[in-house]
Amino acid sequence: MKSVVITAVAAWAAVAAAATNLTHLPHDHVKPWANGTHFTDRTTGHTMQHFVLWSNGTHFTDPSTNTTVKHFDCDVQQGHASAHFNRTVQRLHLDHQHSAAGSRAAKSLVERSKVSTPISVPLYIHVITKTASQGSITQAMANAQAKALNMAYNPYGITFVLKGTTFNANDAWAVAAGADMDALKKALRVGTYSTLNLYFHTDLSGGVLGTCTLPSQVQVGTPQALYFSDGCNINANTMPGASMTGYNMGKTAVHETGHWLGLLHTFEGYSCSGTGDFIADTTPESASTNGCPTNPWKSSCPGTNDPVHNYMDYSTDACYSRFTNGQVARMSTLWTQYRKGM
Ligand SMILES: [Zn+2]
Repeated sequence: MKSVVITAVAAWAAVAAAATNLTHLPHDHVKPWANGTHFTDRTTGHTMQHFVLWSNGTHFTDPSTNTTVKHFDCDVQQGHASAHFNRTVQRLHLDHQHSAAGSRAAKSLVERSKVSTPISVPLYIHVITKTASQGSITQAMANAQAKALNMAYNPYGITFVLKGTTFNANDAWAVAAGADMDALKKALRVGTYSTLNLYFHTDLSGGVLGTCTLPSQVQVGTPQALYFSDGCNINANTMPGASMTGYNMGKTAVHETGHWLGLLHTFEGYSCSGTGDFIADTTPESASTNGCPTNPWKSSCPGTNDPVHNYMDYSTDACYSRFTNGQVARMSTLWTQYRKGM
């Protein structure tokens, strides 16, 4: 059994000490399952066993490894973002409200939008195992992970080009607790601020599925040493074909990459009112989603169905299927502002 070290994982070096509150779910908002063992995925129509033995709203036990895992716990929230990022998304949200929001919302119901200009992102995958588990994550799995990213993002005009894969056997880096996180990123990160670096750890600290950084302001020519922490750290057991039951289709990387491109959670703020994720067409949600509750549909806000199929919720891999048009527009805008040409 894998030992799990409960340590806060820093997304951005500057907030390494900041405690996350993502695990404090309002339990009273979480609707019970239709039954205890199965759910029907509305997108595929498949009835699936719902393997997840939720002990509470924040943890589950992976039956294949008997490991207790925190539910994502991305450490991504507005309070941890840079002031520049927060000002930007607030302004974009206001601009959208002042434009023809109503007609756009109606349009968004019937059309799948793409980014205004195709985005091509250089991608590096860093596989980090313990010495004892060296070889357990293969190049084929890294290739499948890149493919899973593209399956999710290509329909929206975003492509990831796998430029390289590194393999490291390092007992400390496989866990990436505390200072080891900075050390491995300083050693392994490649490319510029427009290059996506995904680190897959076999024993990621904190028992989390993944964590990532939001974009922040970097000038052309800023040395990489000043943004070495940029990128996503992901539990390698979530890679396609790996061991994390329910989460082994590579979709954790899809979710974390959404943060890298500037998206917040659909449940940001854990409230039915207010600005939420600063995107106009994501349905308000006061609680993150466990599994894929569509029968009955999870509804944490009055009169609306929660966006359980949205990549920026906390649903299971099979449940994830979409971004909204507003999220796609946001990724497009923030790519241009923060990463393109950097
Ligand atoms: Zn997240």
